[in-house]
Amino acid sequence: MKKVYNIAIDGPAGAGKSTIARSVARKLHFVYVDTGAMYRAMALHFLRNGISSSDEAAISRAAEDVDVTISYKNGEQQVLLNGENVSGFIRTGEVSAMASATSVYLPVRKKLMELQKKLAEKENVIMDGRDIGTCVLPDADLKIYLTASSKVRARRRFGQLKNSGREYTLEDIERDIIERDNQDMNRSIAPLKKADDAFLVDSSNMTARQVEEQIVELFRQKTEKGEK
Ligand code: C5P
Repeated sequence: MKKVYNIAIDGPAGAGKSTIARSVARKLHFVYVDTGAMYRAMALHFLRNGISSSDEAAISRAAEDVDVTISYKNGEQQVLLNGENVSGFIRTGEVSAMASATSVYLPVRKKLMELQKKLAEKENVIMDGRDIGTCVLPDADLKIYLTASSKVRARRRFGQLKNSGREYTLEDIERDIIERDNQDMNRSIAPLKKADDAFLVDSSNMTARQVEEQIVELFRQKTEKGEK
């Protein structure tokens, strides 16, 4: 059977995981899998159905019934909620907070983790999230823990959201990021943490290009697999 390569990128909110993972995927001709988008799609489903994040029984039931899948259009991941492409609805503050609050529940994690493992078995993927190196792909060929200071992360998010038509202050965004990190790092199931064998990359003083180059180089060193 052909060897399939997997790269795992974990880290806190706004560390630049998706930007970096997308560009590394392009460079290495890998498929980029954004697992946060899957938690966000589930969260959107709970919000649309008026389910409270503290109602564990209702969340567990809804998680079992709902269908979250992904597909690719022009190389970009689309996340489908019961067959509807919801990619345009999942990047709001409300969905971020709901995703973080409901990703603590086992039925939510179990369902999405199965889907993520299946995707990684089939082809070369670079997958980003919070528990990829620790739980989803413990045997990944390369693991990166990507972080940056909360100030830098908030500034980057602010830049991304500036043209979204929504009113967020830099302080709002930093508060939100810190709150989400606390929640993600302190939950009992699959908390955000660096896998023992992950490389720590602090991008506070690095450009996206420098981070991308470092990851591609680390991958080459680990696998001696050059650009095709
Ligand atoms: O990465 P993103 O900010 O889109 O993720 C949204 C939320 O989904 C995170 O705050 C986290 O609570 C949850 N998540 C997770 N495990 C992952 C990916 C995301 O718990 N692998």
